[in-house]
Amino acid sequence: MADKTLVCKDCNTQFIFSEGEQDFYKEKGFMNEPQRCSSCRTAKKQQRKSFGGNNYSRNRGFGNKLDFKAWQ
Ligand SMILES: [Zn+2]
Repeated sequence: MADKTLVCKDCNTQFIFSEGEQDFYKEKGFMNEPQRCSSCRTAKKQQRKSFGGNNYSRNRGFGNKLDFKAWQ
């Protein structure tokens, strides 16, 4: 397997879907490749935070665990 270059659907910037990330996705059984570059993903995360409320605390645990492993 090799690194893949994907295009972000939000900003149309090319980004790398690395070998390690592909392994991670496979391991998790994700069928889809990432749709967004890391800066758009970060922006999305920030947005979610600012909405707050009950959903925020419920979603946070799951999201953080996933993101931590995938993108650190
Ligand atoms: Zn982007």
